[in-house]
Amino acid sequence: MKCPWHHLTEIVDTIGGGALEGLSVKAIQTGGPSGGCIPVSAFNTPVDYESLQQLGSIMGSGGLIVMDEQTSMVDVARFFMEFCMEESCGKCVPCRAGTVQLYHLLNKFASRQATSADLVQLEQLCDMVKHTSLCGLGQAAPNPVLSTLKYFREEYLRLIQL
Ligand code: SF4
Repeated sequence: MKCPWHHLTEIVDTIGGGALEGLSVKAIQTGGPSGGCIPVSAFNTPVDYESLQQLGSIMGSGGLIVMDEQTSMVDVARFFMEFCMEESCGKCVPCRAGTVQLYHLLNKFASRQATSADLVQLEQLCDMVKHTSLCGLGQAAPNPVLSTLKYFREEYLRLIQL
């Protein structure tokens, strides 16, 4: 189903008014806590289920959060992973244990304690949780991490301990 506002940029800039004065928009996060982050370079994307999915996000609850240039995308991923970890019902291991481990790894990045091996583990664990969790919560929980790794990988690399 097409949104009457055809592109993300119309929602962010025309309806939302963009970023605060003096700052530029960096990215948006759509679909609620397990949605993905979309960089400003992709804002000409039509607002429909398929297009958002192709970018690594979801329509989900319809929520949309706009982030300016001061935002750390690693912190964004960590924030949403904490939510998913707390919301996990615990029925299946990939989601119950996987979200905890993902949150732990993201904390290592945020505190500059992460290594290159942690980056590999972060990606592998995201893949495992996404493909083996029982329901939509676990299957979508890695989206904020995977999308920030895809579009803002340099921010993770900058935090790795040399
Ligand atoms: S994926 Fe679903 S069923 Fe499995 S622990 Fe998470 S919330 Fe529960």
